[in-house]
Amino acid sequence: MALIVQKFGGTSVGSVERIEQVAEKVKKFREAGNDLVIVLSAMSGETNRLIELARQISDQPLPRELDVILSTGEQVTIGLLAMALNKRGVPAVSYTGSQVRILTDSAHTKARILQIDDQKIRADLKAGRVVVVAGFQGVDEHGNITTLGRGGSDTTGVALAAALKADECQIYTDVDGVYTTDPRVVAQAQRLEKITFEEMLEMASLGSKVLQIRAVEFAGKYNVPLRVLHSFKEGPGTLITIDEEESMEQPIISGIAFNRDEAKLTIRGVPDTPGVAFKILGPISATNIEVDMIVQNVAHDNTTDFTFTVHRNDFTAAQTVLENTAREIGAREVVGDTKIAKVSIVGVGMRSHAGVASRMFESLAKENINILMISTSEIKVSVVIEEKYLELAVRSLHTAFELDAPARQGE
Ligand code: ADP
Ligand code: ASP
Ligand code: MG
Repeated sequence: MALIVQKFGGTSVGSVERIEQVAEKVKKFREAGNDLVIVLSAMSGETNRLIELARQISDQPLPRELDVILSTGEQVTIGLLAMALNKRGVPAVSYTGSQVRILTDSAHTKARILQIDDQKIRADLKAGRVVVVAGFQGVDEHGNITTLGRGGSDTTGVALAAALKADECQIYTDVDGVYTTDPRVVAQAQRLEKITFEEMLEMASLGSKVLQIRAVEFAGKYNVPLRVLHSFKEGPGTLITIDEEESMEQPIISGIAFNRDEAKLTIRGVPDTPGVAFKILGPISATNIEVDMIVQNVAHDNTTDFTFTVHRNDFTAAQTVLENTAREIGAREVVGDTKIAKVSIVGVGMRSHAGVASRMFESLAKENINILMISTSEIKVSVVIEEKYLELAVRSLHTAFELDAPARQGE
């Protein structure tokens, strides 16, 4: 008899019919003798709808009130599933984040989990009940409702699995595992049997939204066995593992991630004096804007150009700050570009292979795709390109690194 935490995403609970289907599935696991904690998302589209409602009242909704509104989406699905289970003769009880007491910090809309009280859940499990918990939400020490950031139900699932020392955390979604890249963009993408925490963390932070970054961080830190599976199709899914040895057999690149969330800013004609980078980025970070990639050109004529990327949502604010800085330090101009995309290749196999980056650049050159920025780490290479080439870039890299699925017969 195992203790399993199962998380079902938005499309998997997107209608009453789907919720009934989830109930059937949970019932089977229960009848097989497992103890079950179920974590649910809101119905697909619901969180966006709630954000839109708040925006109709104010462009900048008060974060505390926004969390009160956003947390309702998950409260609906947990109640419905608990009813659907009881209807099937499976005793079940639902709890919101604050009822369990998932204690978080007070950073509304992006709160971090600090502690989980497992007493109530353990008592229910002992009494033979399935426990259904609202994902994506918690409560701070003052009793305010908080949410964990978009996609945060994954993190609730993993954090509960860690707190309860569950045998496995299963993330059920609308794809049957983690793929070499987003299967919606590359039809030849292949499901991975396994991927290491380290690679999954890079994939998630570089744009693969199949798992929330914090969920992967948590799973790695507390060594939670984590698996991504399809909600309604049988299959082994993808295991996220610490076991790097066996993955060495795999190709050099495990996956390709991409995102369209960034924008690029360049300050030109900056007098090349010591402390320039600080003068430029200091005021940006003082405004709480996170910077991702940075490039400073070699100086000529005693001036230099300095380019960096920020989240697209922060573009206008960053541009204003940078224009002020340009005036203060006597730089020539500030230019911005929001139509960029970042494409990254990820794989622990890179550690033991040379020439991976040049193979990437060669493949992009063949497609006449200009690289605007580059950054590398031990297990990833990222490039910034024009957004219009994104899909072409991902497809050509997928082929160049031999990740394409073999063509099926008759296709
Ligand atoms: P849920 O609502 O179940 O949390 P998400 O939409 O958050 O589902 O995540 C699943 C989606 O992630 C898939 O439909 C797929 O389009 C996308 N995705 C992006 N990158 C990958 C990848 N490498 N492997 C699998 N799915 C991916
Ligand atoms: N409902 C939330 C969202 O759409 C959390 C989640 O689904 O994981 O982001
Ligand atoms: Mg998700």
